[in-house]
Parts: sequence; C-alpha cells; structure tokens
Amino acid sequence: MTYRPKAVTIDDRAVEHLVDFCRANALDKLFLVADTNTYEAQGRAVADALRSAGFDLKQLVFTNEEVIADAAHVFDVLIAAGGEPRTYVAVGSGTLTDITRFASHRSHSQFISVPTAPSVDGFASIGAPLIIHGVKISVYCQAPYAIFADINTLAHAPQTMIAAGFGDMLGKLTSIADWRLGRLLWNEPYDEAIAQRTLDAVQICVDNVDGIGQDEPQAISRLFDALLESGYCMLDFGESRPASGAEHHTSHYWEMKLLREGRPAILHGAKVGVATVMVAALYDQVRALSREEISDLLEAATWPARDAEVARIRAAYDELADGVIADHKAFLDITPEEVEALKRRILENWDAIQAIAAQVPPAATVAELLQRAGGPATAAELGFDDAERDLGFDSGHYLRNRFTVRKLVKVLGV
Ligand SMILES: [Zn+2]
Repeated sequence: MTYRPKAVTIDDRAVEHLVDFCRANALDKLFLVADTNTYEAQGRAVADALRSAGFDLKQLVFTNEEVIADAAHVFDVLIAAGGEPRTYVAVGSGTLTDITRFASHRSHSQFISVPTAPSVDGFASIGAPLIIHGVKISVYCQAPYAIFADINTLAHAPQTMIAAGFGDMLGKLTSIADWRLGRLLWNEPYDEAIAQRTLDAVQICVDNVDGIGQDEPQAISRLFDALLESGYCMLDFGESRPASGAEHHTSHYWEMKLLREGRPAILHGAKVGVATVMVAALYDQVRALSREEISDLLEAATWPARDAEVARIRAAYDELADGVIADHKAFLDITPEEVEALKRRILENWDAIQAIAAQVPPAATVAELLQRAGGPATAAELGFDDAERDLGFDSGHYLRNRFTVRKLVKVLGV
C-alpha cells in the first residue's frame, strides 16, 4: 500500500475538518502558505479559524502576480517558515501546493492541502514538479498529511482553472492508450487494473461535463474526486505513466518554451487538453490505416538518422538539448536490428494496436468535450501560433524515454 493522506474530505465544512484534524493530531504549530487570490478564496477563513481555536499560526501570502514552483519561491517559503518544526498548510491550487510540498518535506515537516481549485491531478502525489534551471523536473517529496477540500470554494474557482482540471483528466484518454502501446511495442511496465481505474475516473468527468462547465458544486466535487483518483493511480504505480503520455510531453515542451522566453505561464490542464485533441487526431489517423497500408508503410519506412534527430533536438531545445539527448538515448542509439524487430512487432500486433486506438474518442469529440467544460480546444486559443503548435507536437516526445502514438507515427513515417 502506498502512502496516502491520513484524511480526505470534499464537502462544505473544510475549515472545520482542518481545525478538528489539527486538534486531534496535536499539530499546535502551523504555517499557512497562500497567494493573494487563494488567501481571499479560503486562506483568511482558515487562518481566522485556526487562530481563534488557539493554534500558533505563521503565514506567508505571496503578493507577486505569477507564482511559479521555482527556487525563488521555495526559498521565500523556507525563510518565512523560520526553521522550526511546524505543520505546513497549503491553501491554493497545484503550483502553490507543490512549492509547499517540497519546502515542508525538506524541512522534515508534514503538510496539509486545502485546495482552492480543481485544476490538476497532482494534489495527492508524492512528487513536486519544480522548475530547475529552466527545466521542469518532478522531485520526490511527500503526499499531503491530509486534504480538506471545500466544494463551494472549488466551484467558485475561476472557470479557466476548473476547465483545466477537466483537460488534465481528458488527457488520460490518450495517456492510457499510449501506455498500452508502450507495453505492446516497447516492453514498458504496465498495470491493467490501474489503467482501468484511471479510465473510470475520466468517464466520471465526461458524464458530468455540462455540470462542470456550469460550475455546479456536485459536478465539481466529482471532478475533484477523479483528479484525486488519478493521483492515487500514479502513487500506486510509482510513477506518472498512467497519467502522462504524448499529450503531457507536448504540454511540457510548451511550458518550458514559455519559461525560456519569459512569457506568462499557461495552466497545465489547459495545455494538456489542447494537446489531447492533437494526439487524438493521430489515433484517428492510426484507425484509418489498413493492415496492407501498414505493411507498405513499414516496408518504406526508414528510422530517422541520428544526426538529423540530434539537429532537430538542438533546434527545439537550445541550451537544454544536451540533457534531452541524454534522456532520449534508447531511441537515438537504436540498432538496425532493433528497428527491424520493432517494425515486425507493429505488423504482428496491428489488430491489438487498432483495438487500443479504438478506445480513444475522435479528436472532434475531445474538442467538443473541452468546449462544453468551458476550456480551450485549439493551440491558437492558448496563444500559440501554428509554428509553436507544431514545434510542441513534434519535439515534446523527445522529453521522455517512453513509447507513445507520436513515436508510432514517426516510425511509420506518416
Ligand atoms: Zn497532468
């Protein structure tokens, strides 16, 4: 059994539950971390309740416009915490929770999560995605000691953040399909029960899409439940594979590009949702290919030459290229025999590949679901031009040594 939060509630009494929990567990000294928005949404109520219940509470409220999970923000938290043992209380969405997750873990303290938006599936996770020297890296930390979510606060979160949470969930449609391709064609470790649990969680979100789009508290509560379940699936599997495929790689590429260029960040789930439409379109393409066509394509296909691939990576990743090239070694250094074996595997397993592709809804359906949830469905809506859109799609897959439909299409040369 993997480490899970000791208590999780999603109802309209989050602050009460938090106070009771702190009392029951003798957590006398606390340290609240929030930003201006989340302090207004829930932080002030949490602080007032804890202080009037007699707890020793310190707090840090970030007042800068853009809170990023980077060294500067972590440093601010550690300075404000003052080096004494305190239980941290993160009042906020994903980024703020990740900063607190890391800072609390590295100061040997627990942290409690009071989420203010159902924007991402990482609340319960052990890892914190941090920006280190311009690269997003998931750093091993800890799951929250407890999570107390207030449905009304979640339902009053900005619509863009709610839609982002939905987009992050929808991304599991392609990440699970990619994971199944990885098992079939690249011998990646796989767990069918976890894959199915993840898909069940997505289905709950799809069934509630209109309520989610209209900020209905019950539907938002189901969305938050699903986001937690996706987080538990990652915890149980021990890495992010059940929740991250080509759509996440594309999103990570865009995120790093924005960061390098000093442009404002875009919500993780918004990028993932848009990328999911693009990856679903690749599955549309795969579904349209017959066994005869595949056989011809494989016959004609040449594995991309190493030098050309390296040049492509250098162009797409600038100063980060060396790290990406190192991570992508298994694909760059593939031998002609391995390429032939992979081609044979694709041909022999074409029916199974078709069955995997059949589980992904058409790209048009994915786009329509995102729109119903109130989120963006195209790269243009995110503010990317066509070249940036394509660069993310073409270069994101270099970020992880994992097999995805993006890799399959590259092998086929379509
Ligand atoms: Zn995600």
